[in-house]
Amino acid sequence: MDVEVHVIGAGIGGVAAAIALTRAGARVRVLEQAGQLTEVGAGLQISQNGLAVLRALDVVGNDPVAAVRSTGTEIRDFARGRLVTKFPPPAAGPTWYFHRADLLAALVDRARGLGVTFELGARVDEVEVNDAGCTMTLSDGAVRKAGIVIAADGGQSRSRQVVNGTSRPEFSGQVAWRATVPWGRDCRQGAGRLTMGANRHVVTYPLREGRLMNIVAVEERNDWTREGWRLQGDPDEFRRAFREFGGTVGQILGRVETVHQWALYLHPVASRWHRGSLALLGDAAHPTLPFMAQGACLALEDAWVLADCLRAHGRAGFGHYQNQRVPRARRVVAEAAGNARKFHLKGPARWIAQAALGMAGPRFAPRY
Ligand code: FAD
Repeated sequence: MDVEVHVIGAGIGGVAAAIALTRAGARVRVLEQAGQLTEVGAGLQISQNGLAVLRALDVVGNDPVAAVRSTGTEIRDFARGRLVTKFPPPAAGPTWYFHRADLLAALVDRARGLGVTFELGARVDEVEVNDAGCTMTLSDGAVRKAGIVIAADGGQSRSRQVVNGTSRPEFSGQVAWRATVPWGRDCRQGAGRLTMGANRHVVTYPLREGRLMNIVAVEERNDWTREGWRLQGDPDEFRRAFREFGGTVGQILGRVETVHQWALYLHPVASRWHRGSLALLGDAAHPTLPFMAQGACLALEDAWVLADCLRAHGRAGFGHYQNQRVPRARRVVAEAAGNARKFHLKGPARWIAQAALGMAGPRFAPRY
């Protein structure tokens, strides 16, 4: 496959696609709006489907350096953090907990080693699809003509609109907080914890050999307008929202000094994933709620399948790519949306749990 491909976006999906396409014979240039190649300081659970792609692309080996191997997921009660039940790792093999920056650095190293070119500070403001290919206009006014363009520009993708027209996301009624805190355990393996409370939950898992603890906390709220997940939050407001959480998770939340906040929006999976020589990949095609921890894993799968289809069929491969990926993405995105409220104590479960813990008052009246 002797073609030049431009990838918009150097997130996990874009860089994985750059590697897979280079291995398939393409010359790849990645345009990234940020001035540096870095991810936010948070964790990422990579299950075996995502790991299989990372291994096949030679980004990680069997024992990914700096990642923590999950020994399963513990479900804990919010008041004292007592163990309710534990789910062992899936039969397919354990999930690994990565620091996002570590995973992106491993992907970028591999891509650079294969000769992928990165242009930083290159924001693509407009993409136009024409008979010859695509024309991209950058924020500095530069115009680029390109043959094949892969838009891996995330959940706010401009290219998604070019391929599908506009769509209106729907606020899910949930707001999430994320933070990491120093933890100081020396471990290459450890359990994730899901601590369920009334209309809220907290997921925690160790990162970087246990030196950090990753926190994602979700609460139900009606009042939100902004989408985006890099907004700075107020640690005191965060602690107030989760003040009823005790035990180890309470201690973890007590250490938070910096927190980010974002509203969770539901987007339909794009019905079209390509137009002319422009194709969508990762969150640009299928942003998902985080309740299956599969967004990045799906983006890695996309990268592998896309490169495979282009190698086998040339540009006609875009149709094969869409046909293979849409049903899978729809299933995972729907399952994640279905999990959204399962993690919260509500209705009879909430009432029974709170009555058992001796908590009373109108706040705890059953609502169903
Ligand atoms: P992004 O990571 O959003 O990357 C897009 C890139 O494109 C960015 O670098 C951006 O700067 C760049 N860009 C955007 N617009 C332009 C432009 N116009 N020009 C040039 N560059 C541009 N998934 C998992 O698999 N496991 C998890 O445990 C998990 N946990 C999550 C927890 C949270 C709190 C959230 C919010 C998501 C989680 N996900 C998880 C989902 C996962 O983070 C995303 O699905 C994944 O990062 C998507 O990767 P991407 O490359 O498609 O997009």
